Amino acid sequence: MAAVGGKAAHSLIEFWDLEGGPSWSIEDWEDEASAVLDAEVSRTETESGIPMDEWRVSGRATKARPNKEDIEWWRAELPKMGQMYAEWREKTAWEIWITPDGELAVELEIKVPLPDVEVPFLGYIDRVFVEPDTGALVVWDAKFGSQSPEDLVQLSRYRMGLELRYGVQAQYGAIYKGRTGDLIPIFKDGKTLMPLSHLSSSIVAGDIEAQWRLIQTGAYPASPGRHCSWCDVRNSCTHAKGRDAWKHDPSHPGYKPSALTLAA
Ligand code: SF4
Repeated sequence: MAAVGGKAAHSLIEFWDLEGGPSWSIEDWEDEASAVLDAEVSRTETESGIPMDEWRVSGRATKARPNKEDIEWWRAELPKMGQMYAEWREKTAWEIWITPDGELAVELEIKVPLPDVEVPFLGYIDRVFVEPDTGALVVWDAKFGSQSPEDLVQLSRYRMGLELRYGVQAQYGAIYKGRTGDLIPIFKDGKTLMPLSHLSSSIVAGDIEAQWRLIQTGAYPASPGRHCSWCDVRNSCTHAKGRDAWKHDPSHPGYKPSALTLAA
């Protein structure tokens, strides 16, 4: 449910930005939030073939929310998240960057080839903003879950994509936390406008190339960490004590490949 709620939150603020940042009442926010949430639920049910009542619901059960972060929790919280985003935009006065092609940098698709990698780099940058005091470009990513990133990998890849696609260099990256309505630091230095220029495009592209070479070997070593809690295949992973690991994960001591796996 968390992934669907997060996508609905992205859609909500994307719609608001593309509408030019209108002054919505709380009723407007509630109507728009419900519409995007219901559309996202319906789309995911259709694509996955799994009804919503079988989805995993995250969050902690409390007195106030005994059903954890279910659809009703998202329905109640999304309008508030939307309003907080509108307030943050007003408070910072950051402008959305417009690409040299005239495109507003909202959910900006970047697809570029990389040297020595056979598939193109594809990324969708939530926003590219112009920081008004300095005119610096900021690659910006919104998070609506309870977890926060632990490194600059995603932002540095966006920066690389932006440079390869448009020949511009974003000086900073920023992570926006949709549940609190503000930017958050990744590191202990407390900076929320995080410098990225030390992560040059050649360094980042080199890292991707190294990972590509590893993929070619067919070796996929497990990398357990906090990210396991939102991993799509955790139910099939031994390291996450997945209930189906014995069926899908060769490193599970009781691994018994299914007929389908054997036929492949
Ligand atoms: S659950 Fe398993 S596959 Fe998923 S991120 Fe964690 S270690 Fe990797």
